[in-house]
Amino acid sequence: MLKLGEISLKGLNRRNFEKTLANNIKNKLRPHRSTIVSKKGRMYLEVDKDLSDKEIDFALSTLFGLDGYAPCLVSEKNLDSIEKCIKKAIIGNESFINSATYKVIAKREDKKFEKNSYELSCFAAKIVNSVYPKLKVDVKNPEAILYIEIRNNAYIYTQSKKTLGGLPTGTAGKALSLLSGGIDSPVASVKMASRGLREELVYFHAYPFTGAESLEKVKKLAALIAPYLGGTILHIVNFTPIEMRIKDTVYEREKTIMLRSSMMRVAKKLALKRRCSCLITGEALSQVASQTLSAMEFTTKMADCLVLRPLVGMDKEEIITLSKKIGTYETSILPFEDCCSLFSPKHPITQVKAEQEEKSYTSMDAGKLENEAVETAEMIFFDANGRERVES
Ligand code: ATP
Ligand code: MG
Repeated sequence: MLKLGEISLKGLNRRNFEKTLANNIKNKLRPHRSTIVSKKGRMYLEVDKDLSDKEIDFALSTLFGLDGYAPCLVSEKNLDSIEKCIKKAIIGNESFINSATYKVIAKREDKKFEKNSYELSCFAAKIVNSVYPKLKVDVKNPEAILYIEIRNNAYIYTQSKKTLGGLPTGTAGKALSLLSGGIDSPVASVKMASRGLREELVYFHAYPFTGAESLEKVKKLAALIAPYLGGTILHIVNFTPIEMRIKDTVYEREKTIMLRSSMMRVAKKLALKRRCSCLITGEALSQVASQTLSAMEFTTKMADCLVLRPLVGMDKEEIITLSKKIGTYETSILPFEDCCSLFSPKHPITQVKAEQEEKSYTSMDAGKLENEAVETAEMIFFDANGRERVES
């Protein structure tokens, strides 16, 4: 039984949200077959018998658009069958075996059913007591709970798991997310996916300034966040020619802002090609020299499109907590160079004067190099389980 969160607040377009959510779930469970039906505020997922609980849990725990789920037994709406299912649900059930108290929560959505919620609770309590005579009812603080819901069928379950909430991937359009090997950008990506954005990723690789290990690290991060994004494409841009141009043409102090600007320019061009309507970065205000207000204002201007920075008001500790939660932290802290750390001057400009820096950027005459960077980018596909997929 799938429990919907924010989707249930949607009005007329709710059906579309539900449809996308159902497709996303099926996609995550592939190659196994699954069916999903939608009935009055709940969705029900039926899966192949050979799918393990662990696989189902991984799929649903890394999915946006769902508040929780409960693995449940489905029974016909007659008391004999319900009794059998209740026994099946509680006999050998660790949480009932190891508890001293319990409670039944019964809901009768189908008002034609012969017992009302209270009567159904009493009926179920008798069955529980026949199996576990020592178990006492505690309605305030029960250690174990038996749920019964009478809807189109009777649903019986003892565990309800909370999941990520948010909105289904693909209901808010598509973005291109700038993924580096650091802590912040994978978190930024996942944060925006939670609002329904489908995403592709771009990594600017400057071989040999940044080694093959850096690329492997970014691929690993892409694989780790792919389940949250419902699958994704990682674009690897060869950034070496642009870095060389920066190195050869601008003042030392300008290198960082030029590098950030050219990343944004190339990302914007790639976004247009891939039909992404905005960019995402992992920038947080004042975290480093290139993330001052004036620097962000300047790079946004250079990108000339909407740039989403979901971490902008967060401090590093908060970001680290999130990165641990989504499972990217351990990979992010592996010590490999990224092109920014290689190209960071001792005293980079923090107060960017837009007019002056625009002139410097123009003087680099990097337009052709930017186009080539977009044209020669390579693609790596990741499915909704984070597996790399080879495609021609
Ligand atoms: P992160 O931890 O995400 O690397 P950071 O604190 O190191 O961020 P910067 O290196 O200034 O900060 O990068 C700011 C943002 O620019 C990153 O969050 C990411 O979105 C993008 N970015 C930086 N370097 C790259 C790169 N090599 N490829 C793609 N995007 C990058
Ligand atoms: Mg970085």
